[in-house]
Amino acid sequence: MSPAKSVILVTGGSGLVGKAIQWVVENDSKYGQREGEEWVYLTSKDGNLIDPAATKAIFEKYRPTHVIHLAAKVGGLFGNMAANLDYFRDNLLINDNVLHNAKEFGVKKVVSCLSTCIFPDKTTYPIDETMVHQGPPHDSNYGYSHSKRMVDVMNRAYNQQYGCNFTSVIPTNVFGPHDNFHLVNSHVIPGLIHKCYLAQENGTPFIMAGTGRPLRQFIYSRDLAKLFIWTLREYKEITPLILSVPEEEEVSIKQVGDSIVKAMGYTGDYRFDTSKADGQYKKTASNKKLKKKIRKGLDWKTTLSWLRAPEKENLGYWTHS
Ligand code: NAP
Ligand code: GDP
Repeated sequence: MSPAKSVILVTGGSGLVGKAIQWVVENDSKYGQREGEEWVYLTSKDGNLIDPAATKAIFEKYRPTHVIHLAAKVGGLFGNMAANLDYFRDNLLINDNVLHNAKEFGVKKVVSCLSTCIFPDKTTYPIDETMVHQGPPHDSNYGYSHSKRMVDVMNRAYNQQYGCNFTSVIPTNVFGPHDNFHLVNSHVIPGLIHKCYLAQENGTPFIMAGTGRPLRQFIYSRDLAKLFIWTLREYKEITPLILSVPEEEEVSIKQVGDSIVKAMGYTGDYRFDTSKADGQYKKTASNKKLKKKIRKGLDWKTTLSWLRAPEKENLGYWTHS
């Protein structure tokens, strides 16, 4: 990015990932705010991005030079299963409004946020960036997944037709401060922390959904935030970049539950409700491309130290901070 004044607009600035980016910008010596940069963190109170007029008004007000686009209707497996149409429509509209205005207002670079659930359900592993459109996503969250896949299609078309520098990243499951702890619409880590807390408080069993066998890669939100900022500053391609911990650090949902039980000192009854859905069995993503790109920037040693397994340090750190 040039030393001239930059206005970096972060949509979804009040969410799990947005708050982590704000924390890194305000606290990290390497990835923090640089001279000439103004960071703006949007919430839905600044305007509903589903609405074209409200989105245009935001771009008119801030005149961003760069956009990190996070705002989305986000939920875990059970929220998605209950409302595939809402996840599809809301996200399609938000993404269309943001990218259209970014083009109209001459934004120099947009980094949008996809998710590993966009990958094909029936595939080979590990999954890489070239496989996004090679087969239907898992049935449980096809609305959300298809809307996110379309961002990659739009990025390519905006570049082809107008020369826009719009790209995307694909993070694995994220956890950290400011997560969504809703009992139904949350992701597994915050959902289970809330359930474990209630079980502890009420002396009732701690019940996890599904079999506990599915596998996931988890990335700590502030580690992801650094990689996001690196992508904004250094990544040159339009095609997506997976932001993931190594494949070997994939863990089962049972391991996640065990870690939560241990971290919270829960000693009560602990079991699975196998009548509830497991969702996609696994979506093991490769971070080979990320490693290659970062190694080129001589930054890999630092990065390796961020990409730690949740069980080892991050989950403990997070639940106690
Ligand atoms: P989050 O905590 O649910 O936050 C969502 C953000 O989007 C909030 O700032 C929210 O504003 C804003 N937003 C939602 N609808 C909006 C609308 N109609 N108009 C304006 N703003 C709106 O989500 P997150 O977990 O940080 O996710 C950020 C991005 O990462 C998303 O694109 C998501 O798909 C992606 N991602 C998340 C995960 C994960 O595990 N969480 C994994 C992979 C990818 P308010 O706070 O004002 O409502
Ligand atoms: P996904 O990666 O999109 O499937 O996201 P989730 O974080 O919602 O779910 C991951 C896995 O955790 C699935 O296999 C669920 O069956 C399992 N799981 C177990 N208990 C819970 C829970 O309380 N909430 C959620 N969201 N998932 C749970």
